[in-house]
Amino acid sequence: MARLIDGKAIAADVRAQAARRAAELREKGVEPALAVILVGEDPASKIYVRNKARACRECGIRSEVVRLPADATQAALMAEIDRINRDERIHGLLIQLPLPAHLDAEAALAAVDWKKDVDGFHRMNAGALLNGTPTVLPCTPAGCMELLRRAGVALDGAQAVVIGRSSIVGKPMALLLMQANCTVTVCHSHTRNLADVVRRADIVVAAIGRPRFITADMIREGAAVIDVGINRMEDGSLCGDVDFDAVCEKASCITPVPGGVGPMTIAMLMRNTVQAAEKYAE
Ligand code: NDP
Repeated sequence: MARLIDGKAIAADVRAQAARRAAELREKGVEPALAVILVGEDPASKIYVRNKARACRECGIRSEVVRLPADATQAALMAEIDRINRDERIHGLLIQLPLPAHLDAEAALAAVDWKKDVDGFHRMNAGALLNGTPTVLPCTPAGCMELLRRAGVALDGAQAVVIGRSSIVGKPMALLLMQANCTVTVCHSHTRNLADVVRRADIVVAAIGRPRFITADMIREGAAVIDVGINRMEDGSLCGDVDFDAVCEKASCITPVPGGVGPMTIAMLMRNTVQAAEKYAE
């Protein structure tokens, strides 16, 4: 039976560390601050933004939510980004994704001052990660690495399989695993014989967006399983990309959904915001 990797508890610890660093900054006269731009009324985005603001309060980070209407123009969005970039009292800027379809998310992300990019999505920071000289790490993959390390999973030389190749999860996850000396395979919707590939893995990271897609027959006995997926089911419950109950029988350790990667993403955002404020204070 797999050991549960308690993302909630580990995230609380990461947030407590961030809170200590934030307190030290305030003693030096710097109040760490995060701005979040939320465009439109997407219910999931509103919940995420509320949770981020709450985490900020807990950590002693000032937060500012900038709300733009669903029909906001690109120019209005860019003007807000520019204003926050120039505001010296704000150290982190996050644009809540997804943006409404008429807006150019790429252009918006590229306009964020890379020193304030606490999501790690700016091409400057993404490029630094690719180079092996990371500046700020994207929150979700960084959270997954923290979970693996704290669960004591052996990384050096391990076979890791990441399912999903998005720029915000799959790709940076693969880079971080590679940096930790794993042998990494990235799978996606064109991968042939996916089950055979996943079965080779000592470490499986599922970031697909399909409920219970990774089944027990794909998992090697004793593998570590990180489930990034968040899928809202018809009854309102949340479900991961991994068939949790069945996979528990084979994995050595596994993250639950909810209570696994999700809380870590926000905790790493707190860490990144404090880090940006520390760099500013220097
Ligand atoms: P994307 O939709 O951007 O990417 C999904 C990836 O899964 C793609 O690379 C896609 O392949 C691949 N995929 C889709 N279907 C299959 C298939 N049948 N076989 C193999 N691969 C497949 O999603 P994200 O990366 O943004 O997010 C992934 C999941 O993680 C979602 O459930 C999301 O909600 C969740 N998430 C959770 C976070 C957290 O904090 N816990 C944070 C961010 C995301 P292809 O590239 O070929 O299309």
